[in-house]
Amino acid sequence: MAQQEDVFKKIVSHAKEYGFVFPSSEIYDGLSAVYDYGQNGVELKNNIKRYWWDAMTLLHENIVGIDSAIFMHPTIWKASGHVDAFNDPLIDNRDSKKRYRADVLIEDQLAKIDDKINKEVAKAAKRFGDAFDEAQFRATNGRVLEYQAKRDALHERFSQAMNDNNLEELRQIILDEEIVCPISGTKNWTEVRQFNLMFKTEMGSTADGSMTVYLRPETAQGIFVNYLNVQKTGRMRIPFGIAQIGKAFRNEIVARQFIFRMREFEQMEMQFFVRPGEELKWFSQWKEWRLKWHKALGLGDEKYRYHDHDKLAHYANAATDIEFRMPFGFKEVEGIHSRTNFDLSQHEKFSGKKIQYFDPELNESYVPYVIETSIGVDRMFLSVLCSSYEEEQLPNGETRTVLHLPAPLAPVKCAVLPLVRKDGLPEKAREIVDDLKFDFATHYEEKDAIGKRYRRQDAIGTPFCITVDHQTLEDNTVTLRERDSMQQTRVNISDLHTLIHDRVSLSSLLRKLK
Ligand code: ATP
Repeated sequence: MAQQEDVFKKIVSHAKEYGFVFPSSEIYDGLSAVYDYGQNGVELKNNIKRYWWDAMTLLHENIVGIDSAIFMHPTIWKASGHVDAFNDPLIDNRDSKKRYRADVLIEDQLAKIDDKINKEVAKAAKRFGDAFDEAQFRATNGRVLEYQAKRDALHERFSQAMNDNNLEELRQIILDEEIVCPISGTKNWTEVRQFNLMFKTEMGSTADGSMTVYLRPETAQGIFVNYLNVQKTGRMRIPFGIAQIGKAFRNEIVARQFIFRMREFEQMEMQFFVRPGEELKWFSQWKEWRLKWHKALGLGDEKYRYHDHDKLAHYANAATDIEFRMPFGFKEVEGIHSRTNFDLSQHEKFSGKKIQYFDPELNESYVPYVIETSIGVDRMFLSVLCSSYEEEQLPNGETRTVLHLPAPLAPVKCAVLPLVRKDGLPEKAREIVDDLKFDFATHYEEKDAIGKRYRRQDAIGTPFCITVDHQTLEDNTVTLRERDSMQQTRVNISDLHTLIHDRVSLSSLLRKLK
């Protein structure tokens, strides 16, 4: 685990050193849980967004996009339940003065028990070798059963407390489990309190009587309040979806783990409107489609798992997270929720406008049911970054730091490098850049020895380096070096376009989703 934490620290500093992610307002010592994306980060982020957007809007003829405003009428947040119920239970440690989410402390405790079980399983697997039957071991081993029983009891008690919104019970669980503050090491806990996560601000001058507005904590409501506009103007027929990418804001209590939990972040959300009664069918369909989207990136199928929710939000009748194995454990990257007709019905009630769909096949009107897919751009970015980072041991004893980014997501697709800065090689290299730059993000670099330039491109994940040497001037061939294998092949300049396109185009990725 300690080793994993070291790796994570390295990834965070790599992200800064190579212009992916900077702490916000750094020259003023930063602003907690707010980050800026640098020159390479913004490209990677845009590519992730493009991959999602195209997968939604190009591959589904019944999904369209919108871009709604961040400011919305404050009653929207009353209707959605966010004013009354968008709370986290927080608890303070009196000695360290650190604040925690009570539910997260208990979830960490559950994860610790899981770790213990997994360690027992791993030990036994090693001992028994090929003959090991994991399922049987889990079902019969005394120590595992003991841990499992403890886990189940704790989980049951925790779920109950969360469902009942029982803050005293949450605190009691923390005390009974003897959970200590990781900073002070003590059990000197305060009461558990509810804390609303929405940021408030004022709209209009105070002299005229200003209005309190919220920075949206999710982009979904902008879709719901535009349901009628889009359905009517787009003449959409159910089932259909509306997609949106945009900023969301949450005053998170616990802001740790880099860009995993931010106060200002970006979401990619799609609300899919269906007939009442068909929502669970569509829920499974979207679970499958979304996992396929993730896996197509080739980061490793074993790094994903579903986590079905036991505790459902007040509006949901089914919910699952897609979790990704980060260096700090499996964590939610995307949520898929069957939100029933809760949101649209609430907006009907609060706005007094009829929000219904006339279904010509059924010859009846109804408030549509909704399946939501909601993914954080920043968490997706983090999962791509973490699983791409490698400190690779080379046969010659050196190490190189390389980002094995999925080629279509890489910030720079190819770098053109003249071997030396003379003899007409820079001019020739520039000619190649001037041709490729219309289709690919192309870098030109002439400073430093060629090996050093390759390493710099490896460190930002550039899939191809094109080296121009003296032979190029004679026969119009260049060396094409591939990032992961480091293999170099001699190719014709006229073939470059096709060779690069085959690997880096977004359409090659999208085609895997067919
Ligand atoms: P968590 O339990 O981690 O707080 P959540 O269940 O509240 O997340 P949702 O409300 O389902 O998250 O939001 C959908 C997605 O938005 C999440 O899967 C995540 O990728 C992203 N997200 C939510 N909160 C944050 C945040 N503070 N920083 C970055 N991304 C976030």
